[in-house]
Amino acid sequence: MNVISISDKFHTKEDCLGYMENLRWSGHPVCPYCGSTDNIPVKKEFRHHCNNPECKKTFSVLIGTIFEGARLPLPKFFVLIGLMLNARKGISSMQLRRDVGITVRSSWYAAMRVRCAMVETISDMKGTVEADEMYVGGKPRHRKVTADNVAWLSRLEKPKRGRGAQNKVKVAGMVERDGRVITKVLSNFTAQNLLAMLKRYVNIDKATLMTDEFASYNSFDEYVTRHVIKHKQKEYVRGNVHTNTIEGYWSIVKAGIKGQYRVLSRRYFPFYLAEFAYKYNRRNAQSLQFESFMKDALSDGKCLIYHKPKGDPLKIVYPRKNKPAKANTRKFNKANKDAGKTKAKKKIAKAKKKKEIKTEKE
Ligand SMILES: [Zn+2]
Repeated sequence: MNVISISDKFHTKEDCLGYMENLRWSGHPVCPYCGSTDNIPVKKEFRHHCNNPECKKTFSVLIGTIFEGARLPLPKFFVLIGLMLNARKGISSMQLRRDVGITVRSSWYAAMRVRCAMVETISDMKGTVEADEMYVGGKPRHRKVTADNVAWLSRLEKPKRGRGAQNKVKVAGMVERDGRVITKVLSNFTAQNLLAMLKRYVNIDKATLMTDEFASYNSFDEYVTRHVIKHKQKEYVRGNVHTNTIEGYWSIVKAGIKGQYRVLSRRYFPFYLAEFAYKYNRRNAQSLQFESFMKDALSDGKCLIYHKPKGDPLKIVYPRKNKPAKANTRKFNKANKDAGKTKAKKKIAKAKKKKEIKTEKE
C-alpha cells in the first residue's frame, strides 16, 4: 500500500477504527484491561463495555497500542505511518510536518510512537554473524579556552575517529550475512557488555563470528568459533572473512543521520536505531508493509512514549549523561604560579631600584 492508496482507503476515523478492530481482534473484542472476552458494544461506535464484574470498563481498540491518547486524527496518522515506512533512510519530523500538514510537535510525537512500534527483539542469529561497533557524534567544534576546559580541549586537539573517540555515542551491532541486524547503544564496549549481547541474540552453536582485532571480542572465543580480520594491518577481506556487511549497515545509518535527521538527542537515539534496524530487516519486501506494521503496532507490549516504555526500550542501555570532563587544573595552576613568580620578581626588582634611587639621593 502506498501513501495515495492509504489516504484513499482511510478517509474517516471510523474507517481507521474498523480496520484496526479487524486486524487486532478479527471480530472478537478482548478487554485490554482484564483480558475478558465477555463484552458488548456501546451505543457510541467502536467502543465496548466489559461485562467482567471486577472490571466494568469501556474500551476502544486503541487502548494499549501506540495510538492510545494520541490527539492526531487517525487518517493523518495513517498517512504519516505510510510516509515513514516508505522512507528508506528515515524522514525528519520537519518533513513530516510539511507532508501531512500538522505542527512539528505533533509530527515528532507521532513519529516517536511509530518508532516505538518498530522496536523489536531478535534472537537466534545463525550462520555467519559479523560484529562491530560505531561511534556517532559530530566533530568537536572550536571552543573558547577557559580555565575549566583548558585540559579537556588539549585532549581534543587531535580528535580521534573511531575507537577512543571522546564524547560520542557508542553503538554495538551484529548482523547476519544476508539476514537481520541488531544494534544497541552501550555505555562502554567492555568484554562483559559485548558478551551479554552475544549470548542474548546469537545462537552460539550455529553461528560463526567475524570481528576485527578489538580486544573486547577475545572473550567470544570461549563460546563461538570466531575469525579475526586485522584492520590495523590494512587487511579488509581474507577469503570469506570480512566485516563489510556491518560496515555497510553503519554507512546506511550514518547517511540517514547526516541526510535526514541532522541532529539527534542521545536520549532518543535507541529509537532511531530501532527504526533503521526495522527497515533494514525488511529491505527485501517489494512494497511498503503497511499491514504487517499495523499488526506490530497493535500487538501487546508495544510501548507509548508518554508512558513508561513497557517493551524493550527500557532494557536498552542509555548512555550516561555526558558530564564535562574534569579540568586538569594542575597544569593551569602551575602556569599561573610561574606567571605569578615572575610578576613578584619584577615587583621586588622595582622596589629595590626605588630604594637604591632613594639611598643615592640621600
Ligand atoms: Zn475488562
